[in-house]
Amino acid sequence: MKVGVCSLQGDFEKHGYILQALGAEFEYVAEAEQLAGIDGLILPGGESTTMLKLLDVENLFRPLLDFARSRPLFGTCAGAILMAREVAAPSQRSLGLVDMTVERNAYGRQINSFIQTIDPSPELAERTAPGALEAVFIRAPIIRKVEENVKVLATVDSSPVLVEQGRYLAGTFHPELTADTRVHQLFLDKIRHDKG
Ligand code: GLN
Repeated sequence: MKVGVCSLQGDFEKHGYILQALGAEFEYVAEAEQLAGIDGLILPGGESTTMLKLLDVENLFRPLLDFARSRPLFGTCAGAILMAREVAAPSQRSLGLVDMTVERNAYGRQINSFIQTIDPSPELAERTAPGALEAVFIRAPIIRKVEENVKVLATVDSSPVLVEQGRYLAGTFHPELTADTRVHQLFLDKIRHDKG
């Protein structure tokens, strides 16, 4: 099993470190041809407008949609914005994989970034481990709306911050910036399950 980490832009290397610590085989992905060799893909945080531009420049937008039809994807922050069905403030194109509406930069500017301890849902606790999760929010979006087929795995002030829809996982915080590996572990489990 090999995990891809999209390396067009953003903090992809931090995801690599976590995957390494978990003993998972991984590869940084910047070209469409590489998608054939991986079983799941992480879209890291960064700047979603720039990522969209680079996806176009590298002719990766379509191949990514094709990939997502049969394999798991995990988007964090900007990556989650790319995965949302609807993007607001300002609105922009997206892969439209998760039936949710996100509002970009909804907590304010960079200076309004914060770290918050969040409670996992009972299901997330059961599938990973119980106990509060430290979540880093950097110019994060807020998930304003989810359809009922979207499962909420963690919330902050009653807004979802980690959601799952079928083989897709999306979070507005940065699990690659803390020592807690539960969210990555969850994604690896999803890939294993999807493959099996
Ligand atoms: N503010 C960024 C955007 O709108 C996301 C920030 C992040 O990924 N940490 O794309």
